[in-house]
Amino acid sequence: MSLITRCPRCQCRDIGRIGSHQYYCWGCCAEMVVGERDIRLYEVGEDGTLVEVSGTAAVG
Ligand SMILES: [Zn+2]
Repeated sequence: MSLITRCPRCQCRDIGRIGSHQYYCWGCCAEMVVGERDIRLYEVGEDGTLVEVSGTAAVG
């Protein structure tokens, strides 16, 4: 399991951990869910729902 130290989307380091496999980027307000092979990016919509951002970032 990898740890995120930088947002794969905006490269900012202002990452907060919100769950065992979940992180939140304060730079671009994206939520990241870390899988074994990739990182899924979500945006939090105005109504609070998560919207998956197209494209995933490979771990490592
Ligand atoms: Zn970001």
